Amino acid sequence: MSSITISNIKIDYKVDSIEMLLLKVCKKCKIKKSDIDSFKILKKSIDARHKPDVFYVYQIFINTKNKVKKIKHKDIIYDKKLKIYKLPKVGSESLSKRPVIVGFGPCGLFCAYILAKCGYKPLIIERGEDIDNRSKTVESFWNGDKLNPESNVQFGEGGAGTFSDGKLNTGVSDKFGRLQYILETFHEYGADENITYDSKPHIGTDVLKECIKNMREEIKSLGGEIRFNTRLDDIKIEDGKVIGIVTHNKDNDKEFIDTNLLVLALGHSARDTFYMLNDYLKMERKTYAVGLRIIHPQSVINMGQYGTDDERLESAPYKLTYKSEDDIPVFSFCMCPGGYVVNASSEDNRLAINGMSYKDRNSGCANSALVSHIETDVAKGSDVLANIEYQRGLEEKTYNLCDGKIPAQKYIDFKNDVKTESFADIGYELKVKGEYEPANIRSILPDYINKNIIEAVEYFGNKLSGFNMDNAVLLAIESRTSSPIRILRNENFESEVKGIYPAGEGCGYAGGIMSAAADGIKIAEAIVNKFTNEDLRY
Ligand code: FAD
Repeated sequence: MSSITISNIKIDYKVDSIEMLLLKVCKKCKIKKSDIDSFKILKKSIDARHKPDVFYVYQIFINTKNKVKKIKHKDIIYDKKLKIYKLPKVGSESLSKRPVIVGFGPCGLFCAYILAKCGYKPLIIERGEDIDNRSKTVESFWNGDKLNPESNVQFGEGGAGTFSDGKLNTGVSDKFGRLQYILETFHEYGADENITYDSKPHIGTDVLKECIKNMREEIKSLGGEIRFNTRLDDIKIEDGKVIGIVTHNKDNDKEFIDTNLLVLALGHSARDTFYMLNDYLKMERKTYAVGLRIIHPQSVINMGQYGTDDERLESAPYKLTYKSEDDIPVFSFCMCPGGYVVNASSEDNRLAINGMSYKDRNSGCANSALVSHIETDVAKGSDVLANIEYQRGLEEKTYNLCDGKIPAQKYIDFKNDVKTESFADIGYELKVKGEYEPANIRSILPDYINKNIIEAVEYFGNKLSGFNMDNAVLLAIESRTSSPIRILRNENFESEVKGIYPAGEGCGYAGGIMSAAADGIKIAEAIVNKFTNEDLRY
């Protein structure tokens, strides 16, 4: 038997199929189809440099039934081993109380999953509801009901990513195979196999919800426990070590939970919890970005990116960057092809938005954030939490502009600083989850950011034809791009208080689903490597 990795197999999107791929593999390796015993696609990307001629480019791994004659070719490697993630080895220090994880977003989920798989029976505390109830709560909020500050687009099972586009790409490196493991795990629990090899994997909110529910059941079957509607209110420390936490649930029952091991996987919107933790843990302010979201008809983006709006191609993404005349970067962020802008608020009388899509990405609209970094001293004062107050100020202004509805404005009106009166003439249907209203949103952000956004949109129009169309629509406000703080941790991932592991996006160690999940895995590895699981009694 031989194993062969073959790269750079190009297939015209119009004739793309597994049969065609294997045909090309055989031709390249000079073997017959019947020689192939098994295969695994490793990478699939899109090449639209010569639009409208668009190609898929594959990397594939095959095992042959018998040893084959090797040929010399830069795209062919023989007998290369695939990198496979290995669960951590169990340590030896005693751990008599079960580990507690606060937050069941991607970071808490993967931390809990690895701990459960290694026999540590974690207890997970999550302030929001389980996915089914949370989905109902969020849908009714989008339909005009009052916000539930404990269970919303930011809080609840699956965390902030649950109502997301579900982009599963990240800039972080994958030396240990953790990222591939996350993708393979999502596939194992319900996602299509293509997320394991697409260069820009996308799962969609609908599929992601199913995967999370399935993983939760697996964690429970391995002895883990998940308490929804339960919020961490306080932590108890003795001699520099954590000795327990105080929680309350939706019936207002308070509880002290005894633990020496606490993972804080809080997400970037747990502002009240950051205030509480600031009394105990060292934190620093962190730069983050704010801006607006922009909607275009997806066909405009497809034409700009592919030179065709052929429905056999997936809705096109984009990633754009610009440096303004005064040297401030403006960039697209969390782009959602075929998606929806969503009201992603989590505090009363404050409004924040984000983007979401379903697996099929077929809403007909593209949206993305256009954001600019806010330096840490923008929120004046020495308070480490001042950036939170800056975010809150922006979100209050946004909320007040249209009485809680998402304020929206045609790009041409934003440029001319005039209120949009109606969207009846824009020529396409806006895809927004949550109520929205025409407005003039120029008063929300500092004028230099408005000006930089206009400069950027004009510049992007030269890169992606149609991007600066008059009838693109801007919506406010994108204020939660990442955490405004970082809770300090040492090289063993522990805070200065022993036994506390700050993790994921909220504590400043990730940005996005994949990096948050990978950070959760790293924390689980650190715990497993250190402690034995033999003494766990409860
Ligand atoms: P979170 O997912 O925020 O999870 C933290 C959890 O902690 C929450 O469930 C919260 O309820 C809980 N919690 C907080 N405080 C307490 C407390 N005191 N007690 C108990 N529980 C508490 N990223 C991508 O990579 N791709 C995307 O396509 C994408 N789209 C997004 C779309 C939307 C609408 C949003 C809001 C975010 C999106 N993101 C996306 C960002 C991504 O969701 C986050 O980066 C990721 O979820 C961070 O994971 P986390 O586990 O660190 O935190």
